[in-house]
Amino acid sequence: MQKNSSLFRKLIDLLIPLRCVKCGLVIEKEEGLCVTCWPRIPFIVKPYCFCCGRPFDFEIEEEALCGVCSRDLPSYATARSVFSYTEESRDLILKFKHADYLSAAPLYGKWMAHILDDIKDPLCVPVPLHWTRLFRRTYNQAALLAREVAQIKGWTYAPSLLKRKKRTPSQGYLSKTERYKNVNRAFSVDDSKKILLKGKTILLIDDVFTTGATLERCAQTLLKAGAKEVHALTLGRVVKPDL
Ligand SMILES: [Zn+2]
Ligand SMILES: [Zn+2]
Repeated sequence: MQKNSSLFRKLIDLLIPLRCVKCGLVIEKEEGLCVTCWPRIPFIVKPYCFCCGRPFDFEIEEEALCGVCSRDLPSYATARSVFSYTEESRDLILKFKHADYLSAAPLYGKWMAHILDDIKDPLCVPVPLHWTRLFRRTYNQAALLAREVAQIKGWTYAPSLLKRKKRTPSQGYLSKTERYKNVNRAFSVDDSKKILLKGKTILLIDDVFTTGATLERCAQTLLKAGAKEVHALTLGRVVKPDL
């Protein structure tokens, strides 16, 4: 079976050449980026805040927290992201969000699975879209990423555990305080689903960590509904100075 699937993979590669996700150049290997684009993507590597994953500019002891987390610890235990959201990396996310660019999901899933710390058999839960937005966009990019990560790691994909109750305006136009208000009470877990997450570890997945407000509210909702702990994983992360 393994042999057959790798043969099949080779056949697909012959028919549809691999392309760089940033510039579209045909590439030979499965890393997803050409040699020119690879160094331009700001992949996040240690050292970073043990809790929220904010990258540090200098070496610091293991499990150190950034200023923001040491003042006010988030509800999620850890948050990790593949790369910083910058001028160079933003099109990787924007294309995936708004255009017909879903073929990047397996690659992004692989990158995300690769950077995870040791988490014991979590349920992979995507940050949900409100159904009216889902209807317009026809897919939830966070769900595509969560499904890929679950498949790669052999974990359970749980797309309907968390629900978005309130239709919230697009986050892009709001200030930080407005965003916190915006996602307040926006999520819920149906009573019938609470039994499924009782005492479980959750891996919450989204495409971008912007202010952390959405992930914080989702984590609060999941913990309140009975989850043991929540970890967050995103593809991109907006990195603001640590104040
Ligand atoms: Zn390229
Ligand atoms: Zn932090």
